[in-house]
Parts: sequence; C-alpha cells; structure tokens
Amino acid sequence: MMRIDIATLFPQMCDVVLSESIIGRAKAKGIVEVHTHNIRDYAEDRYRKVDDYPYGGGLGMLLLAEPIYRCIRSIKDALNGAAATVIYMSPKGERLTQRKVFELKKIQNIIVLAGHYEGVDQRVLDLVVDEEISVGDYVLTGGELPALTLVDAILRCLPGVLSDEECYVNESHSNNMLEYPQYTRPEVWRGLKVPKELLSGDHAMIRNWQKDAAIKITKEKRPDLLK
Ligand code: SAM
Repeated sequence: MMRIDIATLFPQMCDVVLSESIIGRAKAKGIVEVHTHNIRDYAEDRYRKVDDYPYGGGLGMLLLAEPIYRCIRSIKDALNGAAATVIYMSPKGERLTQRKVFELKKIQNIIVLAGHYEGVDQRVLDLVVDEEISVGDYVLTGGELPALTLVDAILRCLPGVLSDEECYVNESHSNNMLEYPQYTRPEVWRGLKVPKELLSGDHAMIRNWQKDAAIKITKEKRPDLLK
C-alpha cells in the first residue's frame, strides 16, 4: 500500500481536506495511508520554537533546520528501513505536471515537506530533501495547499480510487491533450443542445467526435501542448 507522510506546521489544514470526498474514501478503503505530522512537536525548546530571523537580514522568518530534521527522521524510523522519497514543496522546484504525477504514483513511500513563512533553512533541505516540486510560478503563504495538490493528484491515479481507470487515462494532460467538452442531462438546457453525435449511440461516431473536439480545444487553449 502506498504511504504518504506530510510534515507541516498546520496538520489540521491537511487533515480536513484529506478526510473528505474521494481521497477520504480511498483512505477509508485502505488503498492508501496518509499521515500528517506537526513540525512543532519536534521543536528543541519548551517554547516549541520553530522559526527564526534569516542571517544576512531580510523580511520574515525561516523555519529552523533541527525540528524539520527530527520530524523527517521520526517518519523514516516509522517506515522501518523502507525507502522513502522526500519532496519539499517550493516555488523554486520543478513545476508539477501530470507526467510527474504518473512517475510519483509508482513510489511506495513519499514524505512531503511543507514550508511556511519565508521558507526553510537551506541546510536541512540539502541534507534530507530528494526533490523540490512547485505547483506553479507564483508564491503562496505556505506549502500546505501545494502538498495537498500533489497528494490529491497522485492519489486519484492509484488503482481503486476512481471508479474507472479510464477517468484519468483519457483526461486533460494525460496525453499532452486537453479533454473534450462533456455534457449531461437534460439534452436541451436553456435552448442549448448537446452535440447530436453524443446522442447517436454510435460508438465510433462518438469517439471520433471526442477526438476531434479534444484536438480543437487543445489547439485553442493550449497549443503549446501539441508541440
Ligand atoms: N521566500 C520563498 C521564495 O522566494 O522562494 C517563498 C516562501 S513561501 C512564502 C512559503 C512556503 O510556501 C515555501 O516554503 C513553500 O513550502 C510554499 N510555497 C509557496 N509557493 C509555492 C509554490 N508555488 N509551489 C510549492 N510550494 C510553495
């Protein structure tokens, strides 16, 4: 079973999201184990201090190296020697793509580190992190939303999480294409009709329509993908 551990200052933020909907059900079904860990529990002093001013000046606070180091060590100890990939969510990291998600879903144990404030002491990143991943070229206040984005994207591609593997095999970004437009009941809504090909019952005609529509929408919205 895949196991994901998230090291964060705000585990409750992650727990709430991960207990809902499809991911919550995947956990309940035992398809995946997800654990959250509060970095503050690994602070060295009785004030549970986890941040300090950056050397050289600059605005804001940085997360201390030692509590993060201890937190990751404790997670690794709980894995009883099994290999784990440590990913730091960072705007400096490799931009997340569906291709990367497919690569990561094959890993048995992933530890995700969410930074906060102005970031993390570089030394602990150098020591414990295997990969840095960004969710896009913008900056968020913390790594919790990026960590949840990554975990959600990986988990929905695990067997048994979605009702049908087709759901993620033929959707946007799976083949450098965007998905074709989709419609549900009623057939006519406020005067707008569902394309007749989709109502034909002719599977070949439906597939052709979907293929052409996917190419058209990709050309219009993301021509860069077709290159
Ligand atoms: N000072 C840092 C910089 O300029 O690169 C930004 C720190 S950001 C305010 C705080 C934390 O949010 C980071 O440690 C990281 O974990 C997370 N974060 C912010 N934007 C992110 C992004 N685009 N992708 C992944 N993580 C991000």
